[in-house]
Amino acid sequence: MNSKPKIVVLGAGYAGLKTTKELTKLFTPEEADIILVNKHNYHYESTWLHEVAAGTINPNQARFMISDVINPNRVRLIYDLVEKVDTENQRVVLENGELTYDYLVFALGFETNTFGIKGMAENAFSIVDIESSRLIREHIELKFAQYNNNPNSKDSDLTILVGGAGFTGIEFIGELVERVPQLCKKYDIDRRKVRIINVEAMPSILPMFDKDLVEYAKKSLSDRGVEFRLGAAINECTEDSFIIGDDNEEIKAGTIVWTGGVTGSSVLGESGFELTRGKVTVNSDLRAPGFDNVFVLGDCAWVMDEKAGRPFPPTAQAAMQHADVCARNVKALVHGGPLEDFVFHDRGTVASLGVTDGIASVFDGKSLKGKSAAAMKKVVDNRSIFLLGGTKTLLKKGKLRPF
Ligand code: FAD
Ligand code: NAD
Repeated sequence: MNSKPKIVVLGAGYAGLKTTKELTKLFTPEEADIILVNKHNYHYESTWLHEVAAGTINPNQARFMISDVINPNRVRLIYDLVEKVDTENQRVVLENGELTYDYLVFALGFETNTFGIKGMAENAFSIVDIESSRLIREHIELKFAQYNNNPNSKDSDLTILVGGAGFTGIEFIGELVERVPQLCKKYDIDRRKVRIINVEAMPSILPMFDKDLVEYAKKSLSDRGVEFRLGAAINECTEDSFIIGDDNEEIKAGTIVWTGGVTGSSVLGESGFELTRGKVTVNSDLRAPGFDNVFVLGDCAWVMDEKAGRPFPPTAQAAMQHADVCARNVKALVHGGPLEDFVFHDRGTVASLGVTDGIASVFDGKSLKGKSAAAMKKVVDNRSIFLLGGTKTLLKKGKLRPF
């Protein structure tokens, strides 16, 4: 390499944006060129998308301009769609051009996984980014607005069907139970006409939490009118229904949202990386096997938890930790020196059940429920905004108001 090394970061989510920030601290402008590619000119907090989708926060609260937090004079910012990486020629193909790299950080995040369920991709909404989440918000509102204006309206037009009771499904439902009464008031609709139904294949919601927390969450949501259909796999999604369970029962709805799973960016496959269930199983230093100069981070990577014998779950918390190690490892590659292994520091897990309720299992093994868990969730959300955007962004976009 004769000239300055060129470090290209793909994706300005938790992993990519944090890596870029760290790289600017580790390299002077004379030492390396840094390029960040993202399809939008803004970063969004994926962890707030269920709130955007339910309509409990404004889409703009969940995003901020990349150029407000990354100096465009220091990092070349390219807003374009990544189509593929040509690893042989160290080249990234964009929708509107291409660029070469010496070091690549692949952090294009997650996509919905419908597991090939008939009709799901065509008929259900998914919570993936700002646009897809805003669309759900608008669709639900339209259903309410139409109800009293259409003589052929059916009560099932107001039903909201959510497939999957993992984190995304349950947190989305937690927001819906707050939003639905507001919509009923706005459009003069009797709350009892609106059903929120959650369908889950497993016998329990949120199986990663202790039993008493799961029971708490289920009761809290049931008490606020949510119907659970547990142990019932969704076999098919039609234009206006799920077909579920062994007897293929049909549940009709006006809004259908699939939160049954995610996988890594499809650009990984387009680029010829070896995949396990849609992601790259990275080496302990976060590089893609067989590629000395390519790091794969965040939801595109399986990072093995050697103790448990399975990968760590894909989270924003982990993605930001990947970023710190990746930036230091890029520096080690450029300057020569040993690369460090990734070690995950688990700070606990929180699931919100609306603005003032939640469950949490925190770092020292303690459990929280109710307002204390919801407060913890706000702290986590604000910490993430602060780490990525600094104090100014925290003050503008943070969740700083008390309950
Ligand atoms: P992302 O955050 O998905 O960022 C990827 C970036 O790449 C985006 O900016 C995207 O626009 C861009 N991009 C994608 N494809 C292209 C392309 N082809 N070309 C150019 N740019 C592209 N985790 C937690 O730890 N705590 C939580 O509370 C939590 N809550 C969540 C709530 C919801 C509703 C969801 C959906 C997820 C939640 N997660 C949570 C998981 C967390 O959001 C993900 O693990 C995290 O977003 C992964 O970060 P990432 O940087 O890998 O990808
Ligand atoms: P998930 O994979 O965690 O949950 C999907 C759920 O859908 C599972 O319970 C699964 O059994 C169910 N399901 C799958 N196929 C089904 C079918 N045919 N019929 C009925 N149910 C079916 O997915 P997610 O909730 O989108 O979460 C993705 C990742 O994002 C998780 O690993 C999680 O760690 C992370 N996340 C974290 C938080 C948080 O920390 N608060 C919030 C959201 C997401």
